[in-house]
Amino acid sequence: MSFSSLRFSRWLLWVCLGALVVIALSLFWPESPEESPFLKKSKMIMGTEVEISVIPADEQAIEDAFAVIGKIEALMSTYKDDSEVSILNRQGEKEVSPETLEVIKEALKFSQITGGAFDITVEPLINLWKKAAEDEIIPTMQDINEVLPLVNYRNIIVEGNLIRFAKEGMQIDLGGVAKGYAVDKAIEVLKKRGIRRALVNAGGDLYALGEGPKKGEWLIGVQHPEEEDQVYAQIMVKDKAVTTSGSYRRYSIIQGERFSHIINPETGWTVQDVPISVTIVAADTTTADALATGIFVLGPNKGMELINSLPEVEGMIISEGMEVIVSQGWAAMCTRVQTN
Ligand code: AMP
Ligand code: MG
Repeated sequence: MSFSSLRFSRWLLWVCLGALVVIALSLFWPESPEESPFLKKSKMIMGTEVEISVIPADEQAIEDAFAVIGKIEALMSTYKDDSEVSILNRQGEKEVSPETLEVIKEALKFSQITGGAFDITVEPLINLWKKAAEDEIIPTMQDINEVLPLVNYRNIIVEGNLIRFAKEGMQIDLGGVAKGYAVDKAIEVLKKRGIRRALVNAGGDLYALGEGPKKGEWLIGVQHPEEEDQVYAQIMVKDKAVTTSGSYRRYSIIQGERFSHIINPETGWTVQDVPISVTIVAADTTTADALATGIFVLGPNKGMELINSLPEVEGMIISEGMEVIVSQGWAAMCTRVQTN
């Protein structure tokens, strides 16, 4: 989530390696007489290419939506020393803005829903794994066990707008939910400006508002996890969020082994091998983003059980060897699946 100089290249690398997991296919539809004229703009924010399309064209609305995403990045990025989250991480307590408070509260809600699989207090482990990648040395159990007691969402204390950590050394990272939240806020801004049809896609976290360019629903492609530039499944959505968490592009290689960017808060180890991709469809992007990350940790069986237990949530989990499982309502949205 940053443009700060030292880490910029790493972020660019992440992005180049494919943070863009979900492609809004409708944006590439060939021109046809029935297609509504729309305006699409993209900008690098939060370390990813954010694309906003609105129907009909409204340049100012798009600029306002980009501005709110930039504001969220400035408040919540751990790569900006002056962000609220960075100050909170340094001081162990901080009065925060309504936006940061809302994201932390949402994150705590999803920690409970996922039984702790989604946990924003993983930041000390993220730092440990970043250092391991830099040093090219896999951490020892001892290294991990030293940090693990700092990881527990129950030790985040919320008193009004004051956030406090119960243990010294605790730190949070909103990378698993902030992009989704930013997309929701961008949609809110567009709606306030009277936009009724739009698509906001922040590198794999997207929301499709109203009808697509050809009327009816938006056609969204979920990228094939093993074949670059190929779409594995197409779904039709309207007034829904779609998010994919995938390990197949965002990972580090340490001593020849592959380590994903998502960490199991219970063990301190990165999630490996299964699953390789989790796609969630939900009523809002904050929910879809947090659930995709948490379900990635839970794995295919527990993850799908959770998806099926939640109202208004659908999902597809792809594991190693292209083993695919989908939720009960997935087939009704899915228009095409690549079979070979
Ligand atoms: P996403 O791409 O939305 O799945 O988010 C991945 C990011 O979330 C990582 O790059 C970390 O910043 C953060 N993260 C990693 N593991 C977890 C976890 N278990 N719970 C919450 N956030 C996590
Ligand atoms: Mg996420």
